Amino acid sequence: MEAGKIDIKEMHWYINLLQAIDVGLVVIDREYNVQIWNSFMENHSNMRPDAVVGKNLFDLFSDISPDWFKRKSDSVFQLNSRAFTNWEQRPYLFQFKNYRPITGVAEFMYQNITFVPLMSLDGQVGHLGLIIYDVTDIAIGKIEIEKANTQLEVLSRTDRLTNINNRGYLEENLAREFDRSKRTFQSCSLVMFDIDHFKNVNDTFGHQAGDLILVETANLLKSTIRTTDIPGRYGGEEFCTILIDANAKEAMLLAERLRKKIEALVTIHNDNHISCTISLGIAEVTEDMENYKRWIECADQALYQAKNSGRNKTCIYKYKQEH
Ligand code: GH3
Ligand code: MG
Ligand code: MG
Repeated sequence: MEAGKIDIKEMHWYINLLQAIDVGLVVIDREYNVQIWNSFMENHSNMRPDAVVGKNLFDLFSDISPDWFKRKSDSVFQLNSRAFTNWEQRPYLFQFKNYRPITGVAEFMYQNITFVPLMSLDGQVGHLGLIIYDVTDIAIGKIEIEKANTQLEVLSRTDRLTNINNRGYLEENLAREFDRSKRTFQSCSLVMFDIDHFKNVNDTFGHQAGDLILVETANLLKSTIRTTDIPGRYGGEEFCTILIDANAKEAMLLAERLRKKIEALVTIHNDNHISCTISLGIAEVTEDMENYKRWIECADQALYQAKNSGRNKTCIYKYKQEH
């Protein structure tokens, strides 16, 4: 064989290899008619080459967007350069079922695609080659890691007992909402409350009864506030909620609703019917507050005032006790 030339025998080997490799190979012409369809494509599409070759790609696969595909392939034809698509931008070009046992979680095959310009003997790019890589394993791996990271993030900000936000996450939000309120002049209030005489509850009914009350209190808090508000367990039997776009007077309405609901709540544990009350403190973000820690202190002072004036009450920081 002359150097640089491929003889018929060698060509035959090449074709055999191309049929055997585990990637999809497709050639289309400028009219988007399929010219080559290798075994990988046949096996995954269940369409034999004679049912595909000569037919228009968009007629065969109606879910390929002609606009998108033509834009992509135009640059390959015109610039005579390769183009790529990644499963993260577009999960697949050809919708094939995923049969891999390990990655059985995916319904379809994730694909990376390379668009290759194919030059004719006259030097024109008359055809386009598509190389289709099955990247389902990689995609599923990455998706699983992302899912696990999200779960981990949720876990790291959740209080184990009550399933609401923990103190760390609350503080992050307090800092952010404090800054936002200062910047936008939108009012924002913090309601902080503490269960009254909770030590007695534990001493009388046991720690597990106490735990159950904490869980029920958290549930009641969650179901009383708006979805935009941010609740959390600040510590032991102390809870908070940040009320976005609410001044102290508006926060008072929520606080009182919550106080009455808790007062009416009966927790049943080991046949004991247990009722509790809470004391609440409210602080609105004001101009003179220098940082979010001060905001917490103000709510805490109001709460202290509620405790000192008899418990089962709500007090607003700097305001006279309202009832
Ligand atoms: P006050 O009305 O002044 O708030 O009285 P108090 O008894 O509620 O306050 P104190 O701070 O003396 O007691 C708080 C109690 O809360 C003591 C502690 O054992 C209990 N506690 C804190 N965390 C938990 C918890 O996770 N589970 C249970 N069951 N009890 C807890
Ligand atoms: Mg208490
Ligand atoms: Mg306490």
